[in-house]
Amino acid sequence: MTAPLLLTPGPLTTSARTRQAMLVDWGSWDDRFNQLTASVCEQLLAIIDGAGSHHCVPLQGSGTFAVEAAIGTLVPRDGKVLVLINGAYGKRLARICEVLGRDFSTFETAEDEPTTATDVDRLLHADPAITHVALIHCETSTGILNPLPAIAQVVKTHGKRLIIDAMSSFGALPIDAREVPFDALIAASGKCLEGVPGMGFVFADRQALAAAQGNCHSLAMDLFDQHSYMTRTGQWRFTPPTHVVAALHEALLQYQEEGGLPARHERYASNCQALLDGMAELGLRSFLPVDIQAPIIVTFHAPQDPRYRFKDFYERVKAKGFILYPGKLTQVETFRVGCIGHVDAAGMRAAVKAIAEVLQEMEVLEI
Ligand SMILES: *Cc1c(COP(=O)(O)O)cnc(C)c1O
Repeated sequence: MTAPLLLTPGPLTTSARTRQAMLVDWGSWDDRFNQLTASVCEQLLAIIDGAGSHHCVPLQGSGTFAVEAAIGTLVPRDGKVLVLINGAYGKRLARICEVLGRDFSTFETAEDEPTTATDVDRLLHADPAITHVALIHCETSTGILNPLPAIAQVVKTHGKRLIIDAMSSFGALPIDAREVPFDALIAASGKCLEGVPGMGFVFADRQALAAAQGNCHSLAMDLFDQHSYMTRTGQWRFTPPTHVVAALHEALLQYQEEGGLPARHERYASNCQALLDGMAELGLRSFLPVDIQAPIIVTFHAPQDPRYRFKDFYERVKAKGFILYPGKLTQVETFRVGCIGHVDAAGMRAAVKAIAEVLQEMEVLEI
């Protein structure tokens, strides 16, 4: 049996070429490995046109490790973070501030309602103690897109600093560091770049990072130290995720060959459209209106039928070769289907066909 396609928020399906890049064992002192790291960081910076303004600081671990490291390193201990929330990942930002002992306040909108620049303007006027704003670009718990460029301008106008969790959008949705001001933008190897999971990276504003010495509460999470050590030695501080770096390097070569960000965006947009069209034909409604739906992951209302059970549905669709994802909403029963990873529109149509067959088998759907 061939491996199922992962239609999830990550880990994602990767190409055979990316997986093959992991068949070599690298030494962390090896010059060639250190060149690989340097090349990865350079290519990542180029995606946001950030070479003149930001450093790329890679960090071992999953994406959340890098988010925690960015907040811990860049928010001074006497700073205050305004956390913008419309889903589970936004809540996680607030939880990180709480655990790290950084003062914070939250602003929460409904899960189908983007935060607006007007909201942020009002909130910053109301509380001058705020030093940093933290935002999720694409809130993966629903697939909603928040208006990053407008919010970034307002934060800058107020002279405040922005921290962006762009984990599920980086590489697929355009973000230009020359036009969108931010202190930190965080993403990871295993999402839209189609590498394997295991490392995150933070694009940190050069001046903000230079001023961040001693902020961090943690040795391993200190991006200032991670960056200065890497600049001095060319090596990672502590054991690097060598195979993950090699896979990401290979994934980035394929990203460029495909046509870079515009091509990646177009493939995911066409995946998303194929999915929405196919599911609409089955009578399955998506949770978000199309104008705020990012082409990353789609939340669908579960069929209103007592015979529908997610676990059963999931297992049957998996047996046909596709891994779906549970919903993450508290109020309504939903499930999610990702549009990202090494998959094209034909793959998405095959997934919809499998879903249709399963719902017929479960007698939830009569076609
Ligand atoms: C995937 C993701 C993360 C990181 O999650 P991990 O499980 O730590 O990799 C953070 N924020 C968003 C928006 C994500 O989609």
